[in-house]
Amino acid sequence: MATISDYFGSLVFDERTMKSVLPAKVFASLKQTIDEGTPLDSSVANVVAQAMKEWAVANGATHYTHWFQPMTGVTAEKHDSFITPAPDGGVIMEFSGKELIKGEPDASSFPSGGLRATFEARGYTAWDPSSYAFIKGKTLCIPTAFCSYSGHALDKKTPLLRSMEALNKQCLRILKLFGNDTVKNVRTSVGPEQEYFLVTKEMYDKRLDLKMTGRTLFGAKSPKGQEMDDHYFGVIKPRVASYMEELNEELWKLGIFAKTEHNEVAPAQHELAPIYETTNIATDHNQLTMEIMQKVALKHGLVCLLHEKPFAGVNGSGKHNNWSIATDEGQNLLSPGATPYENAQFLLFLCAVIKAVDDYQDLLRLSVATAGNDHRLGANEAPPAVISMFLGDELNAVLEAIEEEKPYEGTEKIQMKLGVDVLPKFNRDTTDRNRTSPFAFTGNKFEFRMVGSQDSIGDPNVILNTIAAEAFAQAADVIEKSDDVAMAVHDLIKENMTKHQRIIFNGDGYSEDWIKEAKRRGLPNLPTMLDAVDTLTTDKSIALFEKFGIFTKAELESRKEVLYEKYAKTMNIEATCMVEMASKQIIPAVINYIGRLTDVVLATDKAGVNNRAIKEILYKSSDYLDRMQEALTKLQNNLEFAQAIADYKKRAFAYRDVVKVTMDELRVEADKLEMIVDKEDWPIPTYGDLLFEV
Ligand code: ADP
Ligand code: MG
Repeated sequence: MATISDYFGSLVFDERTMKSVLPAKVFASLKQTIDEGTPLDSSVANVVAQAMKEWAVANGATHYTHWFQPMTGVTAEKHDSFITPAPDGGVIMEFSGKELIKGEPDASSFPSGGLRATFEARGYTAWDPSSYAFIKGKTLCIPTAFCSYSGHALDKKTPLLRSMEALNKQCLRILKLFGNDTVKNVRTSVGPEQEYFLVTKEMYDKRLDLKMTGRTLFGAKSPKGQEMDDHYFGVIKPRVASYMEELNEELWKLGIFAKTEHNEVAPAQHELAPIYETTNIATDHNQLTMEIMQKVALKHGLVCLLHEKPFAGVNGSGKHNNWSIATDEGQNLLSPGATPYENAQFLLFLCAVIKAVDDYQDLLRLSVATAGNDHRLGANEAPPAVISMFLGDELNAVLEAIEEEKPYEGTEKIQMKLGVDVLPKFNRDTTDRNRTSPFAFTGNKFEFRMVGSQDSIGDPNVILNTIAAEAFAQAADVIEKSDDVAMAVHDLIKENMTKHQRIIFNGDGYSEDWIKEAKRRGLPNLPTMLDAVDTLTTDKSIALFEKFGIFTKAELESRKEVLYEKYAKTMNIEATCMVEMASKQIIPAVINYIGRLTDVVLATDKAGVNNRAIKEILYKSSDYLDRMQEALTKLQNNLEFAQAIADYKKRAFAYRDVVKVTMDELRVEADKLEMIVDKEDWPIPTYGDLLFEV
């Protein structure tokens, strides 16, 4: 039997493969491009393309594609075969450096938020050599960025790469101030923990809502939910275990470090965590992971649900974005060091991140805002929609001591007033973890816990990198001007801690009290996606993004439009699907049931049998049906009203404030009927069927 190390990365054109198939000089030049971003000259590109094609064909590939991540949030690919006609009537397999480096998919059907109308119709894809090419099915996939011809980003990767570069530059400035002259580059790493649900394909196929929207739009609570907490870390059922086994194998072949798997809090909910990697690669891999998760599930007669809230009243799914910053020399800048000197550097970076999060809470909130995540954030199962940070007791004590210029009572008692040399030495605190915090420091990384389960981690990481770059830039500006680096560092740490205290919260993030307290502290609370969207184009945001060349004002405007449109479209699909299920499935089933009951009432009346209970059930169900029909009509009208609104922003708000409210009303009545109507009559699988069948 093949061992994991035999097939790990077997479908990836990774460094091992490159080394073995490329001439040494070409490999060296490509490696430099990968590590340092230097441009690849065309002769080298041709050799790489040729070798890549031969390797891919030997591994069964017939086609290639530029694999990219448009603003839809899912990946896109257009396959071209390698074949070229040969003069003798046959074919040869060809792939040039030009085809490797640049592609021209028809961009017109991808969301651009008006960018294309204003600028250029055509788009192109550009190879990202830092993310390895891989084979999926019979296709060689080349990770690429997607831009318009005028250079505007049309995807999620371009801004991510820009933000990584911005952060790199600012970190290098600071490291230089700490005397590090050897570091070449600094990159962020991410380990995204991915939650998901598994339901049987059989049940799934009977639910139009799951098929159309990824979540259940109707469904009464099942008698048993998650209240017993017996699923979390519970024994994995054989069917799920065999799914996970095959999933791991497929991911490993693609060079994805799937590492940890366990059952989650809700029944039928699970989690997969990979080992962290460089952010753009982690982002590509997470997109690929979600795709493979769904594909493998089908082979097991299962469907993998990635929606943030597939079931009302049951925990939804998220993605924990574990984020750290490291140098090419292997130093994690968010890891407390062994010496006070290293700790000064650590505390400087840490406090700058605290400042960044406090200064740009609204952007971070926005980066995870989707219609699906609206069901989760603030619903006592995921962090609230208010951003705060958790640091842990020890770090808190250290920072407090610095802030108040009093001794730190840690392992050693130290007076810290005088700068770097006397900053305290302390142990890494990994114990007291606060699971309710949206943004927690967990020893050597930050864990951003608000990300939705089906969303690309590209957006949140663009924001994280950019706001951190800004805080680092401000720090570097100050220290570079000072002639006493140690003192300047000390003062900056102190200043940041004093000014940004309000963002630190170590208590229960799920509690009502915290929301009130947050308000007193002046922390913004943006409960729904639409409350956050305009944040993208405030003067402050535009200045930030333009400063680092992440987004132009036009790109931001376009992304804002895409977000509003996406919300409206999502809600439109959900509402339309509800209308269809209500009028074609649920209401006819209830009518059937009522008809049968009526027959029984007539017969029992005739026989002179006591039928008070039967009548009560009959009246109740026909009352609920009345109200359901009323809500349905109202929903149909409200839907038409929203659809007719021309302005994209007003339309989005109408979906939230008018359509969604009626959707909830309709659901209440239908769910009441589900509790009354005979199970045999009920036309769709119930929560019990969905959550406990696998
Ligand atoms: P949890 O208790 O939240 O499950 P783990 O320690 O198991 O936390 O790690 C969760 C994720 O964090 C994993 O994907 C892991 O690879 C990632 N991770 C660990 N260290 C780092 C780091 N330095 N930078 C980024 N991610 C990291
Ligand atoms: Mg976690």
